[in-house]
Amino acid sequence: MRLCTLALASLCMAGPARADIPPLSEVAISTATALRDEHSTAGVAYGLVESLTTEVGPRMAGTEADVRAVAWARAKFEALGFDSVRVEPFSFPYWRRGHERGEVLSPFPQPLAVTALGGSEGTGDTPLEGEIVAFDSLAELQAAEPGAVEGKIVFITQRTQRFKDGRGYGLSVIGRSSGATEASKRGAVGLIIRSISTNSDRFPHTGMMRYAPDVKPIPAAAVSNPDADLLINMLGRGEPVRIRLDIDAETRGEAVSYNVIGDIVGRERPDEVVVIGGHLDSWDLGTGALDDGAGVGITMAAGAAILKQEQRPRRSVRVIAWGNEEQGLIGARAYAEAHAGQMSKHVLGAESDFGAGRVYALRAGVDARYWPVLEQIAAVLAPLGIAFEREGGGPGPDVIPLVQRGMPWAQLAQDGSDYFDYHHTANDTLDKIDSEALDQQAAAYAVLAFLAAEAEADFGRVPAQ
Ligand code: ZN
Ligand code: ZN
Repeated sequence: MRLCTLALASLCMAGPARADIPPLSEVAISTATALRDEHSTAGVAYGLVESLTTEVGPRMAGTEADVRAVAWARAKFEALGFDSVRVEPFSFPYWRRGHERGEVLSPFPQPLAVTALGGSEGTGDTPLEGEIVAFDSLAELQAAEPGAVEGKIVFITQRTQRFKDGRGYGLSVIGRSSGATEASKRGAVGLIIRSISTNSDRFPHTGMMRYAPDVKPIPAAAVSNPDADLLINMLGRGEPVRIRLDIDAETRGEAVSYNVIGDIVGRERPDEVVVIGGHLDSWDLGTGALDDGAGVGITMAAGAAILKQEQRPRRSVRVIAWGNEEQGLIGARAYAEAHAGQMSKHVLGAESDFGAGRVYALRAGVDARYWPVLEQIAAVLAPLGIAFEREGGGPGPDVIPLVQRGMPWAQLAQDGSDYFDYHHTANDTLDKIDSEALDQQAAAYAVLAFLAAEAEADFGRVPAQ
């Protein structure tokens, strides 16, 4: 008999009671255990990232290299034996980066390591010259006296803190995304920020920024961590510090790119899908090994492992190499819109987009009545060093638009302690990746995707926050 208190009545009536949710079968668990232990795809994920970074390299959305990346992903899905491979197009404003130079004019002339932020305007025919005014954070800029930055170049000095889960990025990235808007509103002529970075190399970190529609676009760039320190030391001498920025960049016209989709077609409920993936595009400075060649390689390899099993899982597993994540989840938003009518058939989604560190936790956003199924999945993952955490976490970026339409999510949380050392820099290259760590992640994604697709029950809809 089901016992519903008043407080639990809505939960009880919304779906099956806890006892009604069938557990994963022993056969499913033993297949997943084999997926975890057999290492049938050892080295596959690394091989894919090596191939992508070597044969395609930087692949910013809308570029010729992005077109080659799409062809690469399609060919790899086919070579790995996915049952159905296709691309889905979407369009977006095309941003182009040309040359970029920065230097201190006075009081101590010397070069600066700078890079334009994605979406920034260029400096035009004449380089921009101006005095810098430093602020500890975006909030401090917003609290500045009227006129404090009129005709000057705003410099946001906030440092990004290192954490295993990367939360330091969330605290500082607002300066990158909104700094130019807030500076322009106050009459500034340009913006520089300390890179959203946890390292001390002299690599500036790019990344997306946006102008509010009602502000004059001003050039926006990042300086490397040591260059930010250098400027602060100069400001400490008490004299005005003047810099020059020479940036060629513009947003011009529309470009088209594609989500590349590989399906493993389910044997009983092919229209119900478990979605895993990474994003195919990268910024243009490095070769996009960590961000997000790794995620593409990990999830394609997970799919390849599932394809090696004797039979297909009950539901379909869909691996998506998402297009244009970097400039605002453009491919993911297009997918969510195009598939809005099938969102109730999207039973669970996860994305690998946090580098190549080992997975240490499984977290999820599912109806709490389905926790017992997740506990079973977590028990299979435990020998990989993965704990089950019922609190915290969140969906990977490209699954957010699907989660907003009700899809439950899972997160295989990776150790991202050094992710923001390399993120969005010329230093995001293959040598930062350990092949065995990728195998651990691919095994984790294979177990998660297989068991979620094999479960008799689905995971309900994502709970309201
Ligand atoms: Zn990414
Ligand atoms: Zn990125």
